[in-house]
Amino acid sequence: MISKLPKWAADLTEKASSIMTDMKVLETVYVSPNIKKIRFRGDLSRMNFQIGYASVIRVSDTEFRNYSVAYHNVYEGILDIIFHIHGNGVGSLYIDALKSEDELRISIPRGKKMYNGTIQRQFIFGDETSLGLACSILPILRKNKHQYQFYFELDDENHNVPELLGLENYTVFSKKNTFRNQQWISELPVFNTDEWDNANFILTGNVKSVQTFRKTLKERSRGNISSQGYWLEGKKGL
Ligand SMILES: Cc1cc2nc3c(=O)[nH]c(=O)nc-3n(C[C@H](O)[C@H](O)[C@H](O)COP(=O)(O)OP(=O)(O)OC[C@H]3O[C@@H](n4cnc5c(N)ncnc54)[C@H](O)[C@@H]3O)c2cc1C
Repeated sequence: MISKLPKWAADLTEKASSIMTDMKVLETVYVSPNIKKIRFRGDLSRMNFQIGYASVIRVSDTEFRNYSVAYHNVYEGILDIIFHIHGNGVGSLYIDALKSEDELRISIPRGKKMYNGTIQRQFIFGDETSLGLACSILPILRKNKHQYQFYFELDDENHNVPELLGLENYTVFSKKNTFRNQQWISELPVFNTDEWDNANFILTGNVKSVQTFRKTLKERSRGNISSQGYWLEGKKGL
C-alpha cells in the first residue's frame, strides 16, 4: 500500500472493510524506552498471518505505515506488534501516544513471504524494526526443529531487548556502521564455516545494512536470500 495518500483517499482506504479491521488497544508495554509492545484485540478471522507480511496502520490524515505482527491468537482475537519509537516520524509519534482502550483500524497482513520451511538452517538478520518478525518466526523455528541464528544490530539501550522478548540463539551488534562494511560482515562467524552455505537468509531492517549484507552473501554464492529493507535514513514511509 502507498504510504502517503490525499486525505479523501486515506479516508476511503481506512473505511474499506475488505482490508481494514477494527481493533482496540488492550495493553501497552515499553520493553525499553524506545521499544513499545502493544496488544490489540479485534476480529482476526479474515487475517492471513505469514512470516514477512505486514499490516498497515493509518498514522495521520494522509499517511500509513507498515508493521509486522509479532504474535497472534485468532481464537482470542489478539495480536501484538513491537514498535520502534525512534522519534523521527509521524508513525513513531502516533504509536508512542497510543494507550489502553484506544480504537483504530489495522489492515489485514500482506506482503512478502520470508520463510522457506524446506531449508533446515535459518539465519535472520535485522534491527529494532525486525523484532516483531523475529518473535513471530521463533515458535515456527522451534516447532519445525530448524537450526537457527539471529543477528541483530541494535542501539546500545536496546541490547537486552531480545532477551526481554524471550528470543534465543541471537547475537547483538552495535549500530556503529558495522553492517555497512562488507569486509567486516565477511569476517562474521556465519562466514567462517560452511555450515551456513545452504541456509535460508532472512534480512530485514535498515535498507543500507540489508543491501550490504545481501551483497556480501551474493558474492559468496550464498543462495537462499529473502530480504526487505524496512526503513532508510531520510526517507519517509517505506
Ligand atoms: C514490511 C515491513 C514491516 C515492518 N515492521 C515493523 C515493525 O514491526 N516495527 C517497527 O517499528 N517498524 C516496522 N517497519 C518499519 C516502519 O514501517 C518504518 O520505520 C517507518 O518508516 C516508520 O514510520 P515513521 O512515520 O515513524 O517514520 P517516517 O515518517 O517513515 O520517517 C521519518 C524519518 O525517520 C527515519 N526512520 C524511520 N524509521 C526509523 C527507524 N526504525 N529508526 C530510525 N529512524 C527511522 C526515516 O529515515 C526518516 O528520516 C516495517 C516496515 C516494513 C516495510
